Amino acid sequence: MPSHVVIGGGITGLAACWYLAKAGHRPVLIEKEKRLGGVIRTDEIEGCLVEGGPDSFLAAKPAAMELIRELGLEGDVIGSNDHQRVTFIVKNGKLVPMPDGLMMMVPTKLWPVATSPLFSLGTKIKMALDYFTGPMADIGERSVSDMVRAHYGQEAVDYLAEPLLAGVYGGDPAELSADAVLDRFVEIEKKHGSLTKGMLAARAKAPAQSGPLFRTMKGGMEQLTAALVGQMAGKFDRYRDEVRAVRKTNFGYEIELGNQRLLADNVVVACPAHAASAVLRTLDGELADRLGEIRYNSSVTVALGFDQRDVEGKARGFGFLVPKVERRRMAACTFVKTKFDHRVPPGKAVARCFCGHAAFDIPDNQLIGEVRQELQQLTGIEATPIFTKISRWPKAMAQYTIGHKARVVKIRALAAQHEGLFLAGNAYDGIGIPDCIRNAKAVS
Ligand SMILES: Cc1cc2nc3c(=O)[nH]c(=O)nc-3n(C[C@H](O)[C@H](O)[C@H](O)COP(=O)(O)OP(=O)(O)OC[C@H]3O[C@@H](n4cnc5c(N)ncnc54)[C@H](O)[C@@H]3O)c2cc1C
Repeated sequence: MPSHVVIGGGITGLAACWYLAKAGHRPVLIEKEKRLGGVIRTDEIEGCLVEGGPDSFLAAKPAAMELIRELGLEGDVIGSNDHQRVTFIVKNGKLVPMPDGLMMMVPTKLWPVATSPLFSLGTKIKMALDYFTGPMADIGERSVSDMVRAHYGQEAVDYLAEPLLAGVYGGDPAELSADAVLDRFVEIEKKHGSLTKGMLAARAKAPAQSGPLFRTMKGGMEQLTAALVGQMAGKFDRYRDEVRAVRKTNFGYEIELGNQRLLADNVVVACPAHAASAVLRTLDGELADRLGEIRYNSSVTVALGFDQRDVEGKARGFGFLVPKVERRRMAACTFVKTKFDHRVPPGKAVARCFCGHAAFDIPDNQLIGEVRQELQQLTGIEATPIFTKISRWPKAMAQYTIGHKARVVKIRALAAQHEGLFLAGNAYDGIGIPDCIRNAKAVS
């Protein structure tokens, strides 16, 4: 009987297997799809590395780099080309550069904000006056919209908070919890009141980390999951099957698959909360209910490959974000060649467009048509792509809505009542790849 069964073969499940194997166990990984890696997927098309899911990870969170070092892959880590880092935001159908000095939605430099056409005079005055706000008492949980509006007004919600968070959560800032999504800013607010003052103080104390903000693998993000699978060969077992249910036995757990049952001392549930809810329902109805309360949004990425000559002078900077108030299909577009080296060979270009939940069910041809039309309107790129690639991710992005932190405390407490049961993944306390790896490490 295996000591550990891990359910879900995305980065969380793979990292959990890695750390369990390191600790001397031989885990059994159960993944329903043929491919391992979950939403991490890199395809090579016409010599271009096309990321279907995540394209990078935040350098500031150490867990991903720690794992990469253990795998001996640090020489293959590259950073975003931050010297070319201009990101545009669509305002009234035009691309406006994001002002310098913004840390998320917090302005830390006066002049770039004062001269930016992104904000009205009223927002600029609010941003300046915020500097004089004093420390705030704990005012309870609020939505991201409420928090940002209180500091900078609705325009900052619409043209900063919403588009910046859309790429991470693909959600609505009026529903996302500031405590769960902007916890660092909530702490700063309690201490300093003004977010600008707090960010400047934090930066003075701990100078910004050196090097690029985002890192990725030279061979695409799938290089990481492929290396995990390769280096674990012989140290774990893999079943391609869907877990239907987990039950308690006198000796541990019984895991019901499509047409067989496994027994194990410990079970690591490393799939999205909606899937975890389904597999744990027989074991603990209340835990399943609470897991089911964590909502997920779907997302779609549409990669368009071009001849470089067709985008020359039009594919500017890292790309652009499209606020929801601009009522477009796309939420963001990255010009891959500018953001990262080694992704696109000379003579070619790739625009990677990110679309939210509402695009999920749109048929391929229609979606490509809509995205191309918007790209043409916003950048002037009108050439026919040399390739297109659509990646659809059903219910993949956890929504940390109001009450999320309390919900997770309750979930963890319920799970702790079952000895040998562990939950990990993007549903709990961080949606990014480093968060998932940190989560996975904690179960070993
Ligand atoms: C489009 C997109 C872009 C993103 N961009 C970034 C980014 O740039 N940087 C970043 O840090 N993060 C990014 N994220 C977030 C991050 O990639 C994910 O949160 C993370 O990869 C999730 O990994 P996971 O292993 O927890 O889940 P998943 O990758 O979803 O894997 C879960 C696995 O469980 C399997 N499974 C589910 N149910 C069962 C069952 N009953 N039995 C067996 N197997 C099951 C699924 O098939 C799946 O393979 C992005 C996410 C998406 C969708």
